[in-house]
Amino acid sequence: MIRRVDRIQTELPPPSDPDPAGAAAVQELLGGRFGEMSTFMNYTFQSFNFRNKQGARPFYDLIANIAAEEFGHVELVCAAINTMLTGATPQISSNGRGPGSPLKGVKGVGNPHHFLAGGQGALPQNSQGRPWNGDYVFSSGDLVEDLTHNYFLETGARNGKLKVYEMVEHPAARALTGFLLVRGGVHQVAYARAIENLTGADLTKMFPAPRIPTDKIPESKKHMKTGEHLRLYRFSPKDYLELAAVFNGPHPETGEELQVVDEAPEGFPAYDLPPQTAVFAPDYAPEEIAEIAARLRKKAGLPKEPTGEVANAPARSTSRARKPAAKKSATPRRTAARSR
Ligand code: MN
Ligand code: MN
Repeated sequence: MIRRVDRIQTELPPPSDPDPAGAAAVQELLGGRFGEMSTFMNYTFQSFNFRNKQGARPFYDLIANIAAEEFGHVELVCAAINTMLTGATPQISSNGRGPGSPLKGVKGVGNPHHFLAGGQGALPQNSQGRPWNGDYVFSSGDLVEDLTHNYFLETGARNGKLKVYEMVEHPAARALTGFLLVRGGVHQVAYARAIENLTGADLTKMFPAPRIPTDKIPESKKHMKTGEHLRLYRFSPKDYLELAAVFNGPHPETGEELQVVDEAPEGFPAYDLPPQTAVFAPDYAPEEIAEIAARLRKKAGLPKEPTGEVANAPARSTSRARKPAAKKSATPRRTAARSR
């Protein structure tokens, strides 16, 4: 089973200048062969299909647990794409007028599916708009083969992240790739250690592979300063304990001690991205949905203000004072963690 936390794994900047062409490039990190959907589904299927778990527990725990982290990476790439697409079409109000040409400005820009099939949102596609493919999943059942594949998959994933970093300068893309380069490095080390323990082959002698100077990338360095390149989080309160039997020893590049953190990361609240009415997201007249939601909330005996936690005051057309309610909805634990 999987339990969800409504937070993202790293902080992303608020929407700024839209970049639909950049968003189309970032899609490679979502639905490309080496994207987050691939890492997520590879480790998910390998863990679902795992036989003799009790006999190979440390390796099962490692793969199953990294799968959970990859789910959050899929979420993070979507959040970056959505941030970059925000504002790419004009804000129009229905106002009783008939349709005009609000989408004219994005004709031939980026991925047309972002506007025609989707609501200015991420899609399970690569940078060419081709759908993510189940053939990208390798789950042979042979543990050494699967782990070797995973090491290579993480290598390709980091390579792709660096290329997107070098192609797209939008701050959301930079924050995303800077963080994922570091986390992918941790997964590479984890799979290299697992292979070393099983076969004696020392893949860490191949480091850094690919040769990515993460310490020279400001958006990565920031996370290395706080030790993100050393930590593997355990995404379950009670399970996957034995990954610690594999993920230990010195980091192959820095020599620092690897650490297992016995809880999921605190994460960060995501920005509540504003409606994009030109593509009817969430509606041609979003204020009507907000009214229905408010009515349902009242009927269900829920608080008058929305309970969810977002990085900004929710964008709403009504001019009600937002600040006090936003404070009330943030629990003290989360608030403290944010300032870490
Ligand atoms: Mn990932
Ligand atoms: Mn990974």
